[in-house]
Amino acid sequence: MTREELLTTCGAFLLDLDGTVYLSEKPIGNMLQTLERLRKMGKRIAFVTNASLHSDEVYRARLKEIGVFREGDFLYTSGTAALSLLRERYAGKRVCMLAVDEMKENFRRAGVNVVEEGAEVCLLAYDTSATFAKLKQFNECLQQGAVYLATHADLVCPTATLPQPDAGAFIALFKAASGREPDVVCGKPGAVIARLAARDMQLAPHEMCMVGDRLYTDIRFGNENGMRSLLVLTGEARRDNLHDHPDRPDLILPTFNDLLA
Ligand SMILES: [Mg+2]
Repeated sequence: MTREELLTTCGAFLLDLDGTVYLSEKPIGNMLQTLERLRKMGKRIAFVTNASLHSDEVYRARLKEIGVFREGDFLYTSGTAALSLLRERYAGKRVCMLAVDEMKENFRRAGVNVVEEGAEVCLLAYDTSATFAKLKQFNECLQQGAVYLATHADLVCPTATLPQPDAGAFIALFKAASGREPDVVCGKPGAVIARLAARDMQLAPHEMCMVGDRLYTDIRFGNENGMRSLLVLTGEARRDNLHDHPDRPDLILPTFNDLLA
């Protein structure tokens, strides 16, 4: 697929953040102008991240601060997706969360019945405050047969130095300890955010394009949910690790700015 075809057929661009829109929160190249030009062309812009440490308000404020988020844009985090799924399918159920206190509090405020024991649903988020006691308790809820949700399954989280373990690494730990894997992964590449975006923007999946730097989350998310997919080479993926990879994008560009070059 060519750049021109993507631009004419897609009414919305769903953008991953780290490695796609910015690096260490610094917008890549002339990203701000690229986004503004797309908005002027009538394209909807949505930011889609698997981050789940903070509330959507916190992430939205950060994006505004660095100038990438404008009124009328959309933001979906894996936390948004988890909350939406809990409301839709498990309303009123007792939910055990492996998550930082801030996220537990956000979910409580949003009406989720967060409990420590006797859970009917387990939600694994990215818990940077995890302790052995928390891991043991979550594992017990899993062994007692609760529905198992995960916000996302990214294995590592990029940092300025070495990558650190992300939610996917915790999933591997619980697979070893309980034999279980998540029944649903809420964020990319799961279907929840794709459904929310299609509903909010009133577009069919094939009229939306997912743009990202990671094959097993971003590109798979686009492909498995019937969207177009655009891989950018400003983050994790390199042209030489595309050979034989199951997640093939519709188009590859050096940066997202090259879409309008
Ligand atoms: Mg990324």
